[in-house]
Amino acid sequence: MSNDQPPRPNRVVRTRLLSVIGVVGVGAVLGSLTLWHQQVGDALGLGADKEPVVSTVSAPAIGAPPATVPVTPTPSRRTTTGAPAVPPKTSPTKRPTQQPTKKPTKKPTQVSREESIDGLSPTLKKRLTKAMTAAKADGVTLRITSGRRSAAKQQRLLDEAIRKYGSYKAATRWVLPPKYSAHVQGKAVDIGPAAAMAWLDKNGWRYGVCRRYDNEPWHFEALTTPGRKCPPREPYAVARAD
Ligand SMILES: [Zn+2]
Repeated sequence: MSNDQPPRPNRVVRTRLLSVIGVVGVGAVLGSLTLWHQQVGDALGLGADKEPVVSTVSAPAIGAPPATVPVTPTPSRRTTTGAPAVPPKTSPTKRPTQQPTKKPTKKPTQVSREESIDGLSPTLKKRLTKAMTAAKADGVTLRITSGRRSAAKQQRLLDEAIRKYGSYKAATRWVLPPKYSAHVQGKAVDIGPAAAMAWLDKNGWRYGVCRRYDNEPWHFEALTTPGRKCPPREPYAVARAD
């Protein structure tokens, strides 16, 4: 009886002590492990000098493989657009590298020959270039919406205008036949937008460039000597040889 009873509390105490030690021990080990992981993580984060963006971005989403995962799948994710959290953060770092290759391919297709200053007559080209520079200094961009046109294009425009206005006579107030058109000769230029038309209407005489017709605020020709007053405007175009 006396031998049986004492060991029971001892065993209970031992098991309680062991469990407490065990819990404390496991806790200490876990705590030290997490501390160690944090230190290792900090050391890795500080060590990666060249890729601070990649490591910080991928760390919250994916723990272990930061360098390999975001780099390779991003191009395919951009096309499929099926990825959840990582691509929006990683894509901005890659866009700047892809944009420069896209931009130069777009620009040549946007500016057609008709919208270029190159097809204009030497006189109009020279004067308009000076006017463009002066306008830019005033914060206005003179854009050529239509410069030199081919005879075929001019005829097409005239045919469309005849359909629109109902007669040849009415149409030629807006679109002259190819043999009379200053655009086909490279001696006329249409300018946009509205602020640019207004600027050139007001200042064009300084460069010898004048608005010609009342009904076309966008149409300009080299009609005066630079610095001289522009001739009076005509109400509209008339199909005649100049
Ligand atoms: Zn015109």
